[in-house]
Amino acid sequence: MKELEDRIRRDGIIGEGGVLKVDSFLNHQMDVGLFRAMSREWARLFTGEGVSKILTIEASGIGIACVAALEFGVPVVFAKKSRTKNIAGDVYRTEVPSFTHGGVSDVVVSKRFLLPGDRLLLIDDFLANGAALEGLLTLAGQAGAAVAGVGVAIEKAFQPGGARIRAMGVRVEALARVKSMSPGRIEFC
Ligand code: 5GP
Repeated sequence: MKELEDRIRRDGIIGEGGVLKVDSFLNHQMDVGLFRAMSREWARLFTGEGVSKILTIEASGIGIACVAALEFGVPVVFAKKSRTKNIAGDVYRTEVPSFTHGGVSDVVVSKRFLLPGDRLLLIDDFLANGAALEGLLTLAGQAGAAVAGVGVAIEKAFQPGGARIRAMGVRVEALARVKSMSPGRIEFC
């Protein structure tokens, strides 16, 4: 999506360790007009897929997923990164290693909000090694929900996540696919 690629070129900052900082428009300050354009693109790509719910993961996917949910006219659920191992309640649970912070988060979602009849669209800001989305796929599997596909804003295509998720037979629609990046230079697929 040209609008997103142009914005990354203009405002993205390439940091240490293969991290692309987009916090001026995507995951700290948020340009919701851009989110709306992105969401319209996903709505076009997933037309006729019968998406019943959007599932994302805390925290930086939530803003984008909310705008997408408005566009699709469906509820949005976010998987919570839980600090307590033994919280009360009936939850689906998995572990997700963090790309940006290191460590592993326990990730939970209430069984009340993911149902066997659901057809989910998974949304996140980045796809890097694929751990976050694999965690969401695990939660969807535990619920017996179907997955219509994945929408990510930015796929770092030089990392293995995209290939891993697609090899699982899941449709992945990334709106900007970064082929390579180094300070001052970014190339899209
Ligand atoms: P993965 O689990 O695919 O390795 O990483 C996905 C998660 O890590 C995303 O939810 C995102 O928050 C974070 N992430 C991965 N790569 C980047 C990056 O280059 N920049 C930023 N800002 N976040 C990233």
